[in-house]
Amino acid sequence: MTFAISGECCSDASCVAVCPMNSIHPSPGEAGFGTGVSLFIDPRTCIDCGACADICPVDAAKPADRSAAEDVSRNAAYFAGSDPLAAMDLDTWEPPEYQVWGGGPRRVLVVGAGPAGMYATRELLLRTDAEVTLVDRLAEVGGLVRFGVAPDHPQTKQIIDTFERITRHPRARWRPGTTAEELLGRGGFDAVVHAVGARRSRRLGIVGEDSACTAEDFVAWCNGRPGAVLPVELNGPRVVVVGNGNVALDVARLLVSDDERLRSMDVAAGVRRVLGASGIREVVLLGRRGPEDAAYTESALQELQAMSGGRVTLKYHATPVAWTGADRTPSADRAASGASGAGRGLLLDGGELISAGTLVTAIGFEGDPIDGLPFDSARGTVPNVRGAVVGRPGHYVAGWIKRGARGGIGVNKACAQETVQTLVSSSRGAVSPGS
Ligand SMILES: Cc1cc2nc3c(=O)[nH]c(=O)nc-3n(C[C@H](O)[C@H](O)[C@H](O)COP(=O)(O)OP(=O)(O)OC[C@H]3O[C@@H](n4cnc5c(N)ncnc54)[C@H](O)[C@@H]3O)c2cc1C
Ligand code: SF4
Ligand code: SF4
Repeated sequence: MTFAISGECCSDASCVAVCPMNSIHPSPGEAGFGTGVSLFIDPRTCIDCGACADICPVDAAKPADRSAAEDVSRNAAYFAGSDPLAAMDLDTWEPPEYQVWGGGPRRVLVVGAGPAGMYATRELLLRTDAEVTLVDRLAEVGGLVRFGVAPDHPQTKQIIDTFERITRHPRARWRPGTTAEELLGRGGFDAVVHAVGARRSRRLGIVGEDSACTAEDFVAWCNGRPGAVLPVELNGPRVVVVGNGNVALDVARLLVSDDERLRSMDVAAGVRRVLGASGIREVVLLGRRGPEDAAYTESALQELQAMSGGRVTLKYHATPVAWTGADRTPSADRAASGASGAGRGLLLDGGELISAGTLVTAIGFEGDPIDGLPFDSARGTVPNVRGAVVGRPGHYVAGWIKRGARGGIGVNKACAQETVQTLVSSSRGAVSPGS
């Protein structure tokens, strides 16, 4: 599925800035921009990230399956006969647009090769003549796109090819398997952009939670992140997934996928074996609030309902108080038996027990503090003004560590652009990251 723009479009081009694949045309500067009534989405490159729909002020950009058939064909027809544009083909990059730093080459360290770090790197290469060192503690670029986005959304993962091209730019030095700490200790950078994401799973704060599985662990394991292990045994026949965002829906889809579907999405044999042996036949998705407050998108819900064949139940207005699942703890057992008699499952505040063999929590993520930088523990972010870290000249943030763990891939593009804009306009002399 891709997205399409309808005739409601007022051509303000807000969506162009956030499209990670440069799929929306004509964009400002291109022939035809400002002369037509609408912009169009190229179905050959759209990765279905939804960023255009999030930002559109008039609700003109929609998933193709919720668009009128004529809008879908109008969008496709606009591109008929043209080659698909490689979203960020390095060959087509224009020369640096502005350069405000004097005194020779400047070196910038970008920490984290997820979407925010990749867009920050791209923007620095495009807008300045700085040399950019890009590090990630993992061996590959992509961050959560590679190891978070569900494996049955290969179209979304396409953007990784684009990220890989960025690392091959002559002024980019890509250092996989390296942490910020290793390089920063040696100094020599004029500015640092921290784009480390927000990896820590939020906690429910209930009894027995330590023997539940977090969505972060589950998707990392499914996606084959090096070193990722499933922290609990997966036990059916029923699993409860707490959370009402798209990540919770991703987890539910994977849990009810049969072996044939898992094979078609290139999931490792070991993962398929464990899922197959788990005996999971049913998933209960639990939301603390009602459907009107759910954070998942309509198209993600439709996809889940279409593939699950009634094996996923959505339950709202439910607050968990104790988990007494597979790996019982004495305190969890006590809590459960105190309220409703001994049971194996998730106890809710009204006394109801949903019997289940495994609990997965998917209630969001938060950032970890970064050594030497201020930290807002309530928001899980580094305090910043348009990307400049408060009180730490030379340090900048982009992506989830800057804004909090919200928004899809495309939002990180505009976010990184803002940070680099701030960096470039405030860097008028050598700055020490340690200052
Ligand atoms: C499970 C899941 C599924 C998602 N699915 C979708 C989807 O289908 N569509 C969509 O549009 N969005 C999706 N998103 C959202 C999207 O992934 C995020 O918007 C995006 O990844 C955030 O980018 P980031 O660069 O801030 O962080 P990340 O992607 O987390 O990247 C941070 C990078 O920094 C590295 N790093 C961290 N600390 C250090 C260090 N000290 N030294 C070196 N490197 C370090 C990490 O290894 C990582 O590669 C999903 C998110 C999750 C969690
Ligand atoms: S923003 Fe995302 S969904 Fe919209 S056109 Fe671009 S890639 Fe497709
Ligand atoms: S944001 Fe919406 S109205 Fe604006 S150009 Fe894009 S589709 Fe059209």
